[in-house]
Amino acid sequence: MLTKESEKAWKEWLKTSQYKPIANIENHDTIGIVALDAKQNLSGACTTSGMAYKMHGRVGDSPIIGAALFVDNEIGAATSTGVGEEVIRIVGSHLVVELMRQGNSPQQACELAVARIVKNQPQKSKEIQVGFLALNKNGEYGAFALQKGFTYAVYSNEVPNKIFEAKSYYH
Ligand code: ASP
Repeated sequence: MLTKESEKAWKEWLKTSQYKPIANIENHDTIGIVALDAKQNLSGACTTSGMAYKMHGRVGDSPIIGAALFVDNEIGAATSTGVGEEVIRIVGSHLVVELMRQGNSPQQACELAVARIVKNQPQKSKEIQVGFLALNKNGEYGAFALQKGFTYAVYSNEVPNKIFEAKSYYH
């Protein structure tokens, strides 16, 4: 936010410019939405104000199709939040949709994508947050994150507007 306090904190950070995102402290704020309409068409959207204190010129995962968002109207849709670099490295949302194409449920697909990050970055994955949210063509959904604290909202005929906390790899 463009407040005096945040400007002061940013100027303080500029003294070292260390890029060290901390899970669930520099709150991730990508808003990802996946939806299935009455005609069974899938859609999705995501936005972000990006990571706090990011490096100059950094491109996050939100503007990259397949990273923070991917929709295939034949299979499903997925979105993510968290440290964009790690989502980009596994082309996360595309991976989740492809895992659903292979027969995994949205929940299993999110868990497998998170496990891929852990496998690729065993140490780093303990210190960062990444969460995935997925929805398939049948309206089934799932979510999973590296760390606790990833919440998502569901709005459907069965679940009229409820917030859930996703299960996580680390507890
Ligand atoms: N995914 C975003 C990024 O890396 C951060 C966030 O979740 O807000 O830019």
